[in-house]
Amino acid sequence: MKVAVIGAGLGGLAAALRLQGLGCDVIVLEQNDGPGGRASRIRSAGFTWDTGPSLITMPWVLEETFAAGGLDLHREVTLRRLDPLYRIRWADEERSFDFADSAERLRAEVAQFSERDARRVGDFLDALAPIYEQGILAAGQRPIQDLRSFLALLPMMSRLRAAGPLYDFVARYFEHPRVREAFSFHSLFIGGDPFRVPAIYGALVYLQVLDGGWYADGGVFSLVEAMAQPLEIRYGTRVEAIATAGDRVSGVRLINGEQLSCDVVVSNADVLQTHVLLGRGQGLRRLKPSMSCFLLYLGLDRRLEGLRHHTLLVGPGYREFIQTVTRGRNLPGSLSTYVHAPTRTDPAMAPPGGDSLAVLLPVPNLSAQVDWPAAAEEVRERVVTDLERTYALNGLAGSIQVEHRWTPIDFQRRFGAVDGNAFSVEPTLHQSALFRPPNRVRGLRGMYQVGAGTHPGAGIPGVLLGASVTAALIAADAGLREPAWSL
Ligand SMILES: Cc1cc2nc3c(=O)[nH]c(=O)nc-3n(C[C@H](O)[C@H](O)[C@H](O)COP(=O)(O)OP(=O)(O)OC[C@H]3O[C@@H](n4cnc5c(N)ncnc54)[C@H](O)[C@@H]3O)c2cc1C
Repeated sequence: MKVAVIGAGLGGLAAALRLQGLGCDVIVLEQNDGPGGRASRIRSAGFTWDTGPSLITMPWVLEETFAAGGLDLHREVTLRRLDPLYRIRWADEERSFDFADSAERLRAEVAQFSERDARRVGDFLDALAPIYEQGILAAGQRPIQDLRSFLALLPMMSRLRAAGPLYDFVARYFEHPRVREAFSFHSLFIGGDPFRVPAIYGALVYLQVLDGGWYADGGVFSLVEAMAQPLEIRYGTRVEAIATAGDRVSGVRLINGEQLSCDVVVSNADVLQTHVLLGRGQGLRRLKPSMSCFLLYLGLDRRLEGLRHHTLLVGPGYREFIQTVTRGRNLPGSLSTYVHAPTRTDPAMAPPGGDSLAVLLPVPNLSAQVDWPAAAEEVRERVVTDLERTYALNGLAGSIQVEHRWTPIDFQRRFGAVDGNAFSVEPTLHQSALFRPPNRVRGLRGMYQVGAGTHPGAGIPGVLLGASVTAALIAADAGLREPAWSL
């Protein structure tokens, strides 16, 4: 069976690996000149940066994906467990919070802020356990294609009070504002507003406690390279349209006019664009794309104090900041950033004695009124000054040797992301589960979709689980041998 996969992002690569493992004849078509999509790599002057994802969770999903494609994850890459997973520092707070890789030390971190809250950590994690197992794991590992499979989730959601906002769920357990922030911000990792996403996304905290947070030597792109290696991938190959014959797909048309015929198409393109490739117009445009990011990739001639491998730097006005970046029309007044400093674990990411930093500032997507070509320089200055003054990263500006920058326009141009979104379709109650684009496209045989905008959602584990569901659906629909990971 001939399969064309559009896009070599993590979702496309994972689907391609699994289908190739099932004996399909797979070709991956990628418009850029390398794999990874958002999980790409920049290298210059001896510095290396992951462009997007940096924190690896649920490593067993990677193990399973690699194994399904005939690869041994641990032979291909070296994974290191991080402890702490990250540090949170606040602009107006002396104390910092380390998300420790042990429940006991996690409690001690909470106790710095509130003894009462520390006593509630166990209850909080106990409440999240079934949400993770029955919500994220069970629902994420099977398709939610019809009302019946969706309705089956509702009693669990209501019993566990997992449909209300995540922040409210966290606030039922913890009283100190810092502790509430420390246990609720995780949905931002996948573009979700903690004050609006359903509490089911609280499972993102639980899975960190359960399986830890990991780093791959060489960065997340080492995983991408290993996944791409056994696949036939045509780079610089943009798919312009998906061809159909009657009620099924028949192939794809490339930007140079070339036609490739195939039995199955798996689109890893932005899900809002897949409809355009199918000639269905803007049918999905009612779905709201997520916020975007402004990213600085900095190569320094020295290593700065004050940063862990992952550090979150939270400015004043947590709620206002999130409101502005998810729904605002302008740039936020105060800044909250996330800094990836992988040399703390992997010195080879920078020349000897140097440092390689990726600084992420969440910003509104391109539906807001920001003129990025004009604003980028000023935003860069604000970010660097804020890091120096507010968080005492003294001498940062003067140590920068090399610098790259991405704005929301890069997400739009490089990946075809609608409105320059960073995390595809925003995770909200109305854009999750049955309401998120499904992995099997309705009404067109042979057409499937993977990636952050589809079921179950964004993030490395999310898109890999979605690829697993998709490959199992394809195998079942085509009568291929039943995969070991069957639905
Ligand atoms: C800054 C940032 C930080 C993140 N941090 C984390 C993290 O720490 N941990 C985590 O788990 N997740 C993180 N995420 C989320 C995670 O990176 C994404 O959810 C995931 O990488 C998305 O994968 P995807 O399969 O949707 O593919 P994408 O990365 O969106 O790739 C899609 C690919 O399809 C190609 N394509 C699109 N249209 C066409 C076409 N017409 N023809 C040919 N090719 C096409 C694009 O060029 C691209 O290569 C982060 C995301 C961002 C942006």
